[in-house]
Amino acid sequence: MTDDEYLKRCSMCILPETTPNITFDKDSVCNFCHSHVKVQYEGESKLRELLYSYRKDSSKYDCVLGISGGRDSSYTLLKLVKDYHLKVLAVNYENPFTDPQAKTNIENAVEALNVDVVSFKLKNNIHEKTFKHNFTSWLREPSPAAIPMMCIACKLILPNVIKYAKKYDVGCVVTGGNPYEYISFKRELLNVSTDDNYMNLLTKSFGIKGFGGIANEMLKNPLYCHPMCIPTMVTGFLYGNPYSFGPRFLSPNINLNSDFL
Ligand SMILES: [Zn+2]
Repeated sequence: MTDDEYLKRCSMCILPETTPNITFDKDSVCNFCHSHVKVQYEGESKLRELLYSYRKDSSKYDCVLGISGGRDSSYTLLKLVKDYHLKVLAVNYENPFTDPQAKTNIENAVEALNVDVVSFKLKNNIHEKTFKHNFTSWLREPSPAAIPMMCIACKLILPNVIKYAKKYDVGCVVTGGNPYEYISFKRELLNVSTDDNYMNLLTKSFGIKGFGGIANEMLKNPLYCHPMCIPTMVTGFLYGNPYSFGPRFLSPNINLNSDFL
């Protein structure tokens, strides 16, 4: 007997009824299909124009690129250097869980393209410590919505990349990504619709508005409120993504070009 004999599924995308916050219309089409907005690409010439507007003869670098050694950022580096002839500073976060192959990929890429690279680590083994603490806390009260708590240290990557942009007076930070790995399920698990605008997303995610969000998860499991984790969470809240308060209000002169691909 298969799952389908028990589970209702969307007739368009086959998501099952067990997906958080899913609803179906009379034709069994889910709300995610209804709210899906196709990515509108503005075209390569527009991208070139934008990137070139940050070129400065006086600066050592035209842009800073976050590089992980994975497919997206490696391709982005190749494109910026080979096709757009930009002076790139590659910035790598030496994640304690990084695969050695990723390090080899970075070394090969920067050597082949003659690009400067800097690597940074987070101080005091904060990544390992917060992961271990939040993982053991999660085991006491397992909840799918709290799984992202394990990765709170990753929210410190962007502020560190921005530091390098400031240090070298670079006005443009680029990251590579692709729409097929968009992780909307994290919001859904926190009861935040993918349709919500930025402010609603922020306030609901942190439980400032409405019931739910990270605040709710922390109330259910106060172990997450460990003094070791709080500074990381606050910095992540302020600087965790290009749309959060820090980049928007504290570093307004730096353009964060995310989802480059
Ligand atoms: Zn669907």
